[in-house]
Amino acid sequence: MERLSASCGGCDARWTGVDAAHCVVGCHRTYADVDSYEAHLRGGVCLDPKDARLISISDGECEKWLGPAVEFQAWVTSINTSKDRSER
Ligand SMILES: [Zn+2]
Ligand SMILES: [Zn+2]
Repeated sequence: MERLSASCGGCDARWTGVDAAHCVVGCHRTYADVDSYEAHLRGGVCLDPKDARLISISDGECEKWLGPAVEFQAWVTSINTSKDRSER
């Protein structure tokens, strides 16, 4: 059976996996799934995946970024909370 692979018309990236999401209109990074992809977007702007707390994984052919959006939201909330505290 052939492995499913996909490529982007805008860059050299190739990736495998039906769940993978490539950021075609933005940073041209590949995300392991839609949740991870959405985690790197804030207001339609691409964040650096590291800033979005995504981790880099590799399946041997391409780099993918992985990170649950739920954790990211919790992280943003915790930052906002600690910021409020330190300002007072
Ligand atoms: Zn992007
Ligand atoms: Zn691309």
